[in-house]
Amino acid sequence: MAYFANIIIDISHEKLDRTFQYKIPEELFAQIHPGVQVNVPFGKGNRLMKGFVIEVTNQAEFEESRIKEIDSLAAGSVAVETQLIALAAWIRKNYGATMNQALKTVIPVKQEMKVKEKRSVHLLLEENAAKEQLAVYQKKHNTARARLLEELLLHKELSYDVITRKLNVTGTVIRALEKQNILEIRRETTYRNPVGHLESKGYDLQLNAMQQAVVNRVIQDMQAGANFTYLLHGVTGSGKTEVYMELIADVLSRGKQAIVLIPEIALTYQTVMRFYSRFGDKVSIMNSRLSAGERYDQFLRAKNGEISIMIGPRSALFTPFANLGLIIIDEEHESSYKSETLPKYHARETAIQRAKMAGASVVLGSATPSIDSFYKTKTGEYQLLEMKDRVSKRPMPTCHVVDLREELKGGNLSILSRKLQELMEERLKKKQQIMLFLNRRGISGFISCRACGHVVKCPHCDVSLSLHNRRRLVCHYCGYEEEAPSTCPECGSKYISGFKAGTQKIEEIVKQRFPQAKVLRMDFDTTRSKDSYEQILSAFSNQEADILIGTQMIVKGHDFPNVTLVGILAADLSMYVSDYRASERTFQLLTQAAGRAGRGKELGEVVIQTYNPKHYSIVTAKNQDYHAFYEEEIRLRQLLSYPPVSHMALLLITAEEEMAAEQMAVRLANVIRKADIEGLQLIGPASAAIGKVNDIYRKVIYLKHKDYDCLVNLKDRIELFLKDKAEMKKIHVTFDFDPMNGV
Ligand code: ADP
Ligand code: ZN
Ligand code: ZN
Repeated sequence: MAYFANIIIDISHEKLDRTFQYKIPEELFAQIHPGVQVNVPFGKGNRLMKGFVIEVTNQAEFEESRIKEIDSLAAGSVAVETQLIALAAWIRKNYGATMNQALKTVIPVKQEMKVKEKRSVHLLLEENAAKEQLAVYQKKHNTARARLLEELLLHKELSYDVITRKLNVTGTVIRALEKQNILEIRRETTYRNPVGHLESKGYDLQLNAMQQAVVNRVIQDMQAGANFTYLLHGVTGSGKTEVYMELIADVLSRGKQAIVLIPEIALTYQTVMRFYSRFGDKVSIMNSRLSAGERYDQFLRAKNGEISIMIGPRSALFTPFANLGLIIIDEEHESSYKSETLPKYHARETAIQRAKMAGASVVLGSATPSIDSFYKTKTGEYQLLEMKDRVSKRPMPTCHVVDLREELKGGNLSILSRKLQELMEERLKKKQQIMLFLNRRGISGFISCRACGHVVKCPHCDVSLSLHNRRRLVCHYCGYEEEAPSTCPECGSKYISGFKAGTQKIEEIVKQRFPQAKVLRMDFDTTRSKDSYEQILSAFSNQEADILIGTQMIVKGHDFPNVTLVGILAADLSMYVSDYRASERTFQLLTQAAGRAGRGKELGEVVIQTYNPKHYSIVTAKNQDYHAFYEEEIRLRQLLSYPPVSHMALLLITAEEEMAAEQMAVRLANVIRKADIEGLQLIGPASAAIGKVNDIYRKVIYLKHKDYDCLVNLKDRIELFLKDKAEMKKIHVTFDFDPMNGV
């Protein structure tokens, strides 16, 4: 049989689907894989050009005799593109997608753009003069100016981009201060390295023995040429970030580069600044706010060797470093590491695969490791590293569990338990800060009729609409909005009313109960505009408020030393979600939320309010006993064949016509049954939990099997079955392996 290679000549994003097919000469066959660079005769004159192999196939795209042959393998060093294309092929195979979708995930958009000049901002005032000026701004409540000056007092020099992007200070403010001769903006067209300057400013933190032991272990392995995946289980405040930085310093000293993945929500100014003040301009940041052009520019800088550390969410994993030495994944348990769009890859597994190709090590860090990762330390796939104490032996917070049923019996109808109110009162007196945390899942305030029970739903999706700011009903799935009705659309009764979105309601209650307290709220509504997230956090950090109320958003990424009380108002809500990871998520949220308390000198306290005080995820979170939680959880997963003990694949079949989706689901179920695979469990087909989104119907099939590759083979079989079927123009079938969320 003849084999062909699909080859890309010009590797820029918009031309990725422009492949050319060549015949593979027999003597080269063994060496042709996705990613390999080859020389091919091109165009009329058959000029030899270099190209990358994208796919190997036995299907000729046109008449075989007219297909030219690959000339030879391209000589010379292996380009980083080779690695990334091979990674794309791996992603395609393991998660299901087209090669084109996979390539677009790993190769950044190329855009014409002019070379940007580099701007940095320098403080011109003497320290004392600057402090006086700062006091003036603070008095006038010029918060942006104050924030900028404060930071300049700490660092003397800042990159312009860091100020506008991460400090939320606009160019207008910077120029105003320039006019007053408080600072100076310097412009350069090449990138310069201010590390020496910043480092000499005093990077004098000494790792403690616990941190040093972890660092030594990993460095010894790396220097011996052994590349492992480590899971660093370190309690909140144990100093994991310092460990990461020490490891990065070692990798850099050996001429290699590092990628640091941090969930976008935890990628705050504070976090970035810690890396920046140690490594200076060797660091670059990637986030969703960058334009395609800016992202491309970051990738180009990485490729040209101008930077050596990339910090960012999931997509930073594909930074084209030629000599990658280390990948760090902080908060590795976060579900945002799993892509929700095709290809639905998991950044953790993909990072491990990239590291394998590059000869790099991987460090996964968390205070609450995912069950998946901890399981792999038991099977020997990952190496376990532990840090059991907080830095400087700061004690872990004391945890109280309040049974909400008892509150009701005791006559307290408020959402704030008596214990929590008592502790809040005390904190407010002492001028210490409080965080109140609400698990949002499950309580988006829908509105219903008390006469007939009618619930107002989205006309396009199978979900109820949520009430926002009293007047608008919003669909969280498709964005549909309408005016909240004053009478029931079904029966005309005027007793139709809303349960307000949780956090808003709580804000009202707290303000009523503690009228003297200053309250900030952070949720879907207050963070819709750009940068508002960071503004709320920095206001709270500057102690402009006593109480911060929020959803899971407030759990991450900030160190508030003055917070000594954390209240978790309804711990159970995430347990009712029909999802095998619900307990895991509850445990993680409780532990992480509790970890916000007592990070300064004062002891922290935590109040967990719940209807299930005996549930193992609550009991173990109260005792901060990860191991006990793990043992219970893995026992259940074993019993029910859930990941990581077994593996799952979710097939989602969607179509505008419900019948078409349903019929296809039934046909696919038959194809799967016919394959007759031993040990395979097939569940469904059925309607998805949310049966319709945006007028598209959704059917699902769940597959479970101990062996991941077995599910991958089934996927290949289904793809083959669907290939070239005419009805596939109107039906979509996608795969999700070991899904993180229900559908
Ligand atoms: P984690 O990421 O484990 O929650 P961090 O790395 O954020 O912990 O560290 C918590 C706090 O302790 C930070 O303010 C950090 O600067 C400080 N810290 C970390 N290591 C040390 C150390 N060896 N000595 C003094 N302070 C430290
Ligand atoms: Zn009604
Ligand atoms: Zn909708």
